[in-house]
Amino acid sequence: MRALFAVALLAVCGWLSLPWLKIHLPPQWNPFTPLNVTDPPGWMTRYKLKRLSNDPAACMAVMRQASEQRLVQFRAVPPMQGDCPIEQPLRISGYGDVTLSSSFLASCPMAVTSTLFVINSQNALRQAGITSPLKRISHVGSYACRNIYHRQEGRLSEHGSADAWDVTGFQLANGRWLEVGKNWQQPEDAAAGLHALWRNGCATFGNALGPDYNAAHASHFHLGMRGTGYCR
Ligand SMILES: [Zn+2]
Repeated sequence: MRALFAVALLAVCGWLSLPWLKIHLPPQWNPFTPLNVTDPPGWMTRYKLKRLSNDPAACMAVMRQASEQRLVQFRAVPPMQGDCPIEQPLRISGYGDVTLSSSFLASCPMAVTSTLFVINSQNALRQAGITSPLKRISHVGSYACRNIYHRQEGRLSEHGSADAWDVTGFQLANGRWLEVGKNWQQPEDAAAGLHALWRNGCATFGNALGPDYNAAHASHFHLGMRGTGYCR
């Protein structure tokens, strides 16, 4: 009986402190504050990202805000029909000063996640000892209506819902390229930069698969929405 009373008291205290928490918690720790793409990676950011996948209007609001902050350039395109439908596809054409080898299609949650990824990549590179900032990303696409590994049977790939992005290389402002296919092992500084970018991939995306995973990923990072930080 006494234990029950204690639990009830705690619940009431928790409930009463909600308004205070809503105002005083820093935004990246506050579950009530909408996600901002500049939030640092972590479980709260991941929770907010997951919540966006069930809330198209909130997702678009995050993207519009990011666009106003000049952190991403995109436009909404008509819904995709057929075997691989997408309700609210966006075409991403750049991330602020970071340009792309070509524009690509993304589900709204993937658009938000990729923006987080690019913003945090600058930090990841610096921490890996690479001083020249990221300037350009080359990739081989995102949306493809197919099963995993192009198999006849099996489950639909994350690419079937534009929930994954295959990135092949990163160019720095000084002109240097870090290519997944060439620099995963050498030279040392480029390899360190690529490993940091790959780890940043699974800190923001649900999964990041690279050359160590299997031969199918020898030349690119697969950055996908499924999972909660699966790094291979
Ligand atoms: Zn892929």
